[in-house]
Amino acid sequence: MIEYAMLKTPAGVPVVRSAALESFEKFQAAIERAGGRAPRGADGERMLWNEQRGWFPRTEIETRAMSGGSFGETSGDGWRLAVTRDDRALEAVAREMWHIGLRLPWPSGWQVRFADLWGRHDGYAAVTLYAPHRLILIDRENYLERGDSDLERSLHEELAHLAVGWAVDHGPLFHTTLHEIRTRCPKLIPAWR
Ligand SMILES: [Zn+2]
Repeated sequence: MIEYAMLKTPAGVPVVRSAALESFEKFQAAIERAGGRAPRGADGERMLWNEQRGWFPRTEIETRAMSGGSFGETSGDGWRLAVTRDDRALEAVAREMWHIGLRLPWPSGWQVRFADLWGRHDGYAAVTLYAPHRLILIDRENYLERGDSDLERSLHEELAHLAVGWAVDHGPLFHTTLHEIRTRCPKLIPAWR
């Protein structure tokens, strides 16, 4: 399964997938009306939201990231890992975002790496390859063009996807999780470079 963070226009400007963005904006409006945080349900837990139901009780939040080592390959259809001097810093900042945003242990076997993307991944700022790959790939060329704020958006989005699992897509768990990460990690953490 593959998740695309955002499209780029021919001019290289990233565009968040429009349906996902619209849905997220509605979610943010609902959060604002609720006073900035999800309201609590009868069970005392913060509720979840989606476009169809509005707020509804949370049954579970779990990370579905699989355990086990990474697949170990360095390239595949439309991607190749790029060795850069920022590799260690990228991995470190992604892990800090994860810990601060979600307060969960880093999912076993997952790596965050710069890569060259082309073919089926052409034009994307970031791609998440789920098991067996367990890779979040940040397009090196796009990062060099667009800089840290674009990287930050990509990491927020991709880490939220990693947390909720590929089957959830842009549903209520995704929105809640992305909001948590954005709220807790408003800026790229100073570990970056
Ligand atoms: Zn997404």
